[in-house]
Amino acid sequence: TQTPTRFHVTDAHMMRTIYQPRQPFAHKGTYGHALLVAGSYGKMGAAVLSAKACLHAGVGLLTCHVPQCGYQIIQISAPSAMCVTDIQETYSSHFHESAPQTRGLQQYKTIGIGPGLGTATGTAKALEQLLEQYRQPMVLDADALNIISEYPFLLPRIPHGSLLTPHPKEFERIFGSSDNDFARLELLSRQAVSLQLYILLKGRFTAMACPDGAVYFNSTGNPGMATGGSGDVLTGILTSLLAQGYAPKAAILLGTYLHGLAGDIAAARMSQEAMTAESIIDCLGPAFLQL
Ligand code: AMP
Ligand code: MG
Repeated sequence: TQTPTRFHVTDAHMMRTIYQPRQPFAHKGTYGHALLVAGSYGKMGAAVLSAKACLHAGVGLLTCHVPQCGYQIIQISAPSAMCVTDIQETYSSHFHESAPQTRGLQQYKTIGIGPGLGTATGTAKALEQLLEQYRQPMVLDADALNIISEYPFLLPRIPHGSLLTPHPKEFERIFGSSDNDFARLELLSRQAVSLQLYILLKGRFTAMACPDGAVYFNSTGNPGMATGGSGDVLTGILTSLLAQGYAPKAAILLGTYLHGLAGDIAAARMSQEAMTAESIIDCLGPAFLQL
């Protein structure tokens, strides 16, 4: 017998039970050190958006791993973040390697990977090695998901409790197509159970499937967010919340809610047309204040 899928809708009241205010005696170590692996030549903007969103969602420390062409871009546009560069000029191929003076990837509380990353063979190999070395919940988005759809044997190697954030096309590339929306929700839930992952199918009401089969629908957001870079902002927020110690389920519920709420505030201030992914980041502050 199969457990019936349970559907839920997130709301402001739920967020007030999840949100943890800053502790008065906190220091930057309290809120975690995140690694963001993102960007390639011509797509460094995705890395910048993710990095800024991660910082503006409260992370303690952020290190960005980018190809060499992205070094100055990150240092100038996100001075609160640290930056390490790959051996490659235009894409990343060795993000599993660690500087000798550090504790390697284990020093990071979590990893966010994918925005603007590209799908070069070298990048795919590096993702395979990252999944061997790092076994804590992480966030996989965008080109990390596209790599996984090209190398499906990587899918079961993703650490349990990790967050996958596909838009409908990325979802279909990995998990295949469905006849209708309900069949797709069933597929979403089934995959979350069998892989023991949180899978977020992004859209108007982002559907978030949990390893126990429950599906939560996010209630915030608007079509002004249907613009390049919106998803990269979500990746930064989710990575930030995981680094701060939120459990994966708390992180997805609060993160998608905040992302949509910031988008709603941006739309109210400047219209759905004029807002950009950067406006969503700019409105994260007001969104936190509304919680
Ligand atoms: P991506 O396609 O990766 O850039 O992600 C787009 C982001 O914007 C996701 O978080 C979506 O949920 C959000 N988004 C896009 N279109 C809409 C919409 N019509 N209503 C609400 N949210 C949206
Ligand atoms: Mg995206």
